[in-house]
Amino acid sequence: MLELIEPSPPGSTVTHFPTRPRLLVVDDEPLILEGLSRLLATRDYEVETAGGGCEALIAIGRQQYDVILLDLGMPDLSGTEVLRFVTERSVDTQVIVVSGDSTIDAAIRALRGGAADFVRKPYEPEELLRRVDNTLTRRRLERENNAILQRLQQSEKWHRFLVNSSPDFIYTLDSEGHFTFVNDRAESLLGYRREELLGQHYSLVIHEDDVSRAEHIFNERRASDRNARNIEIRLKCNPGMRRPRLMNGRCRTVELTATGMYDEAAGPFEGRFIGSYGVAKDVTDRKQAEETVHFQAYHDLLTGLPNRALFRDHLGLMLAQARRNQQPLAVLSLDLDHFKVINDSLGHTIGDELLLAVGTRLRQCLREGDTLARLGGDEFAVLLPTLVSRGDVEHICRKIIQVLSKPAYVKGHEIYISVSIGACVAPDDGELVDSLIRQAEIAMYQAKSDGRSRLQFWEPGMQAPYSERMQLEADLRRALVRNEFVLFYQPQVDAVSGEVRGFEALLRWWHPQRGLLSPAEFIPVAEESGVIVPIGDWVLRQAAAQMVEWQKAGLPAVRLSVNISARQLESPDFVDSVMRALHAHGLDGRLMELEITESLLMRDFEANAIKLGRLSAAGVRLAIDDFGTGYSSFKYLSRFPIHSLKIDQSFVQDLEREENLSIVNAMVAMGRGMNLTVIAEGVETAAQRARLQQMQCHEMQGYYFSAPLAAHAATALLGQQTGGTADAQRIAG
Ligand code: C2E
Ligand code: MG
Ligand code: MG
Repeated sequence: MLELIEPSPPGSTVTHFPTRPRLLVVDDEPLILEGLSRLLATRDYEVETAGGGCEALIAIGRQQYDVILLDLGMPDLSGTEVLRFVTERSVDTQVIVVSGDSTIDAAIRALRGGAADFVRKPYEPEELLRRVDNTLTRRRLERENNAILQRLQQSEKWHRFLVNSSPDFIYTLDSEGHFTFVNDRAESLLGYRREELLGQHYSLVIHEDDVSRAEHIFNERRASDRNARNIEIRLKCNPGMRRPRLMNGRCRTVELTATGMYDEAAGPFEGRFIGSYGVAKDVTDRKQAEETVHFQAYHDLLTGLPNRALFRDHLGLMLAQARRNQQPLAVLSLDLDHFKVINDSLGHTIGDELLLAVGTRLRQCLREGDTLARLGGDEFAVLLPTLVSRGDVEHICRKIIQVLSKPAYVKGHEIYISVSIGACVAPDDGELVDSLIRQAEIAMYQAKSDGRSRLQFWEPGMQAPYSERMQLEADLRRALVRNEFVLFYQPQVDAVSGEVRGFEALLRWWHPQRGLLSPAEFIPVAEESGVIVPIGDWVLRQAAAQMVEWQKAGLPAVRLSVNISARQLESPDFVDSVMRALHAHGLDGRLMELEITESLLMRDFEANAIKLGRLSAAGVRLAIDDFGTGYSSFKYLSRFPIHSLKIDQSFVQDLEREENLSIVNAMVAMGRGMNLTVIAEGVETAAQRARLQQMQCHEMQGYYFSAPLAAHAATALLGQQTGGTADAQRIAG
């Protein structure tokens, strides 16, 4: 910052010179010279004398004098000549003419000629001294003013330099919003010369879509800390600018900070609004980089079409909308037939061109609101958000198949292609994003194996083709090595107190390409291929490790339930693998609960009874999962060392139905009668919770209390247990 300039208080008559004021007395009359010198010597002045005009000039050339007392009538060189010399050469001094010529004319001439004052001879000594003193004071003030002026000019130059060489666009507006100042950056940023902008309304440079936002910022009246800061806005460049390419586009994105300006003369509180000033930082390049990164994350770079991630996003949004409007939507999976052959025989460049051409043709068959995405390779997907019937899907697909069957011409090659399409419709075929995409894909594989170039709707029971399962299986095996599995924990809370009694460990898979997968998407394949055994082993060990971590952290001891699959239970190593997990971490078996479905228990009744008996002896608890969906035979169940019954969510979710109400009632009553802990699964609403409480169900689990939580969130929830109940801290869905 530049220092402030503080002049000494005006009106002070004391003269301050760095040294004593230096005076020159000029007169050809020796007596007068002598008398004046003596008079002046009574003051603290340094006095020198000159006996004529020439001598005076020599002295002035050698020395600087603050005041010269000058006689006019001198024989060698008149005082008038000396005065002219002083004025014309801008000698830094003040001249008081002391003359015997008492006419008013002489005085006027002297003053016009540049004298500071005029004193008549004979002079009154006091009067002369006063005049000298006044002249000295005036000289001092003038010098000080000059110094201030110079510093102000310097400071002004500095500020102008700083403002103009700023990389930011700086402006001021009057109270009506017209530019009153813009810095040099206006030209390189917006392509307007300063004169073109001054006097113009700011709206000239605002992008059409940002007008209302701009109004708010450009009319900024606040001058406090609450003023508009770093507001992002687009500025329009001069449409007629000469070097548009240098400007890198027709509009710039800036971050604007604006402040109101007030006329301070009116006082700090009643200041009159006189306009605003602002600083706009050009962030166009950063924005473009961000947009590019964002685009690349959500688009296929070859065709510029949305990729799988964006397609999933759109589908999620459209599903919610379709649910609100109670309108069906369709997901199509399209795969080119024999694309690999074309790619391998004609090369990737032609393959890429062909994919581009296919993208264009597909787009032509769709309406504006439909989403077309490239999921990878030669696989495309389409989302038809507004449908009337399956007939609509058939109609569009017929068109697609027909349009694509026309030959494509790429670099002199005539290429024939066809497409196989799989389709599924929400909500009929489900309402989950990933399952819908999967189902459409499965249907598409079916279309391929049924002869290609056709449409196939998904039907329940349709299986993913063998090769695809092989892929999933290979991915699953690698997933263990690459540590791609995680456990989520869903609290099971006490029906009365709302306290967390336990957690169910639920498996998730961070698939490197497909994102977070739920067990429904991979457990069946894992089960079929047997990979579930090592995975299940990992789940047991991971769960035990988590329990021990909680114990070490001094958190309340709660139960942890782990789901057991058929293959796992049937494995001869099953009991040992549970015991190993417990021992590895030194965990008390009573804190571990195994969730097994009834149908699974019944599969190999005798063997299971022995295995579970051994585990029970080690304290491990047993829960019947999805209770009510299988045999529900208490007679058989009583042969197993069971601790808990988990009432399947299908009953809980439809508690309004009288029939379900009585079934659940009976299940709770029987469970209680057998001294089992009864846990209701899938509790989503307060009404369901109230019903279940009335029935004296022990514990509940479901989105009403909390969705499955990542480990850190489950830890936090347990940590709060002492401070409150899970009920009180319900985490919505
Ligand atoms: P499950 O054992 O019946 O687990 C309960 C399922 O219901 C979980 O689905 C859970 O997220 C979901 N759920 C919880 N609260 C609600 C609710 O209020 N409403 C609704 N609609 N659903 C709710 P998730 O995690 O997708 O697991 C699905 C199934 O996958 C599990 O059903 C279980 O059979 C199996 N599974 C999960 N983890 C493992 C595992 O580590 N090993 C094995 N073998 N199977 C597992
Ligand atoms: Mg379970
Ligand atoms: Mg269950």
